[in-house]
Order: sequence, then structure tokens, then C-alpha cells
Amino acid sequence: MRAMVLDTPKQPLQARDVPKPKPGRGQLLVRVSSCAVCHTDLHVVDGELPNPKLPLILGHQIVGRVEEIGEQADSKFQIGDRVGIPWLGWTDGECFYCRSNRENLCDRARFTGYTIDGGYAEFAVADARFCFHLPEHYDDVDVAPLLCAGLIGYRSYRKTGDAHRLGIYGFGNAANLIAQIALYEGRELFVFTRPGDKATQLSAKKLGAIWTGGSDEQSPEKLDAAIIFASVGPLVPAALHALAKGGIVVCGGIHMSDIPSFPYVDLWGERMITSVANLTRRDAEEFLEIAPRVPVLTKTETFPLKEANTALEKFRSGELSATAVLTISDS
Ligand SMILES: [Zn+2]
Ligand SMILES: [Zn+2]
Repeated sequence: MRAMVLDTPKQPLQARDVPKPKPGRGQLLVRVSSCAVCHTDLHVVDGELPNPKLPLILGHQIVGRVEEIGEQADSKFQIGDRVGIPWLGWTDGECFYCRSNRENLCDRARFTGYTIDGGYAEFAVADARFCFHLPEHYDDVDVAPLLCAGLIGYRSYRKTGDAHRLGIYGFGNAANLIAQIALYEGRELFVFTRPGDKATQLSAKKLGAIWTGGSDEQSPEKLDAAIIFASVGPLVPAALHALAKGGIVVCGGIHMSDIPSFPYVDLWGERMITSVANLTRRDAEEFLEIAPRVPVLTKTETFPLKEANTALEKFRSGELSATAVLTISDS
């Protein structure tokens, strides 16, 4: 099968024919239709995440159809079913975290397109227990960004509890999707962009943000919560400073530059800082249930599989105004 393969970090992906994978016990073989590109893919390519599988097929927002079902695979799927394969690819089910409903923190978790092969390919195998049926409301391209930007964004959003005034720092793909849910649920949205990024501020306003500004600006009111989607450490003290008492800063990214020091008074008053790591299957079920009700709309720009490097470079340089989605079956 055709695949785009990462042999070594900091090198472009190589277009190659590799053996078609076989579904093992409990696994599905999925013919990939589309796979959205995530910021995490860039972190993996750049060597910013430790110990990836190498060589590696990237991609963890996979949409495809079940081609073959391995022995003892979850009976909720049949041949031909459309499935989504997200970042969380496998957990042991028995560690302290798994047994306390925190499988996202599993000591031995494996991740699609990072420690196991992903969807920048014609086929992928995945543990059926970690695959999902997808809402019919969406086509194969539109639904792909929901599988990471949507899911991990959703987990970040849920960490903000019932915060009424919600700040978002970094208005990219994840923010865009989560903002739609926040507005649907009646939150007031304050969006912080790169200083001077009027275009992004305008699109956040159009979506329904009550206030937009640069990350160097103060919001007119104190926030009950802030989610940081940009991988920029100095935003943490900035967001903390913007919080009302009891507020929370949620860092939604998998990688971030160092956080500068800040005065304790900014943390005082039971303010909190937390990160969000990965997702649980429950996050996915909840999000895929609410997304079509809002409905959360995605903006996508498609690239054929063989142009994965172009998609990654355009993402890196900020040339995309939508989520890049690789289209595979017909490329
Ligand atoms: Zn575990
Ligand atoms: Zn991702």
C-alpha cells in the first residue's frame, strides 16, 4: 500500500510502498478515506515528542471503512462501517489510571501516528475498542478534524467546568471547534490572538466572541477560565493574570515552550493551572454526540496523500486558513 513514512525526525516524509497491515486480535483493518493533519504531527516530525515509533506513519484523525475484522474484535463494527480512529490507540486497562477512569493517563498507553502507525496511508489497523462510529451529519473530510482538534479541545473545555466567561488563547483549529460548543452552551467568549492578528480576531468575532484582542492586551472583565491552545509558555502567566478568583487555566497542547515565572499573587485566590493529556473514550463518545447537535462546523482544505509534506509545511508556516485533510482512497 502507499504510505507517507517518517524515517527520522526533522526529515520530510517519504512516499513509499509498504506491506498492507493485517488486523491482529481485537483489531480492525480500515481502508483510510481521509486523515486530518494535527499540530502534534508537526511536533513529531520536529522531534519534539520523545521516542516515536520509527519508521512511522503519522496521522491520528483517521476516517475510513472497515475492510477486515480481526479475531475477537469488538462486535459493534461490521465490514463496510465507517469508523474514526483517534489519538488514543490502546491502553492496558489495568494500571492505577485505567482503573480510576483516567485511561488518558495510562502508564502504557499507545498513540496513533506516534507510537503506533497512523493514517497517512491507504490502510491502517486499529484496536476496535478505541474506534468510533461517526455522526452521519458529516462527510469523510468534514468529520476528520473532529477526531483530535475536536476531541482534545473538548476535554480542555470540560476542564473549565461551568465557567461563564471563557478566554481562549490561540484561535486555531481546536479553538474554532470548541468555541462553537461554548457559544451553544451560552458561555461568553474572549479570544486572544497573536498581537495584531486582526484577521483571526475578526473571524472569532464573526463566530460570536464577545471580545477579541492580542495576547498582550487585558480583557475588559476577569475570566472564569482560560484555555491555551498555542504552544507558547509565556501565555500561561498572561492567562493566569486575566483570571478571576477560583479560575482555571487549561493548557490544551501536547507541547509548550517554557513558562516564565510569575508573582504568587496571580495564583493566589485558588486559581489553578492544569494541562490536558490525550483523551478518554468517554470524551470521544460525549463529543461525537454533541458535535452534530450544535452543529460544530469544520473548515477544511484537502491535499492528496502524496502531498502530505506540503500540507505540513503550509500548516507550519501559517499559510492554512482551514484544517488540512489528506484524502486517500481516491488519491
Ligand atoms: Zn492503564
Ligand atoms: Zn492531534
